[in-house]
Amino acid sequence: MSQRKPLVAGNWKMNGNQALLGEIAGSLVSYQGGADVVVCPPFPYLAAARAALPGNVQVGAQNLSDQQDGAFTGEVGAAMLSEVGCGYVIIGHSERRALYGEDDALVAAKFARAQAAGLVPILCVGETLEEREAGNTEAVVCGQLLAVVDAVGIDAFASAVIAYEPVWAIGTGKTASPEQAQDVHATLRATLAEKSPNIASSTRLLYGGSVKADNAALLFSQSDIDGGLIGGASLTADSFLAICQAAK
Ligand code: PEP
Repeated sequence: MSQRKPLVAGNWKMNGNQALLGEIAGSLVSYQGGADVVVCPPFPYLAAARAALPGNVQVGAQNLSDQQDGAFTGEVGAAMLSEVGCGYVIIGHSERRALYGEDDALVAAKFARAQAAGLVPILCVGETLEEREAGNTEAVVCGQLLAVVDAVGIDAFASAVIAYEPVWAIGTGKTASPEQAQDVHATLRATLAEKSPNIASSTRLLYGGSVKADNAALLFSQSDIDGGLIGGASLTADSFLAICQAAK
């Protein structure tokens, strides 16, 4: 039986508005479950999210700058996120890696910036379909994880969350089977354990990739899956609440 508290984070991506925030906040008022819940709307809604959401629900950002402050037009700094009430920030999402060229070094720099401002990073790792079919899943996800571990040190993971998100399952409706996801999670945990058994056993590993209300419970029941990072299904109040309730 895992001692890790489950966590469910909703990644709105570039979707949603003030009305959706009201609906999500309204539905989460009734949430009494045992998971940590994090809502990650786009930047303009973060402060409003902190004001609207119940106190037991955390707010997270979807990205941040690797720079502290200064002449970086369009960027958002970690301290700003912290000041408007964020507790978490998603880092290294596959869309950031693929569409905005974020490499492991930049991901590690963002991770360090987040922690320096008191934010908990949700570090995303995941393989493409091509990488999986070539038998490279383990090498890719462990490589992405170790790039950050090597840059920031294993102890930094005492206050971090890892999300395994197979790229082929994000937004496609193709979920990794519970066994496929569990295999990768076990590998990630073993990789952490080589550096620190304590960190490995306490770090929460989320699964993300087409999690829905009807497949969440089975995924979350796997021994190394400690919750989920939810995209599309976090945009509907009922389905997000149902997924939160599936995390026990
Ligand atoms: C995501 O955005 O991180 C994600 C997992 O999306 P979806 O749940 O829609 O696949």
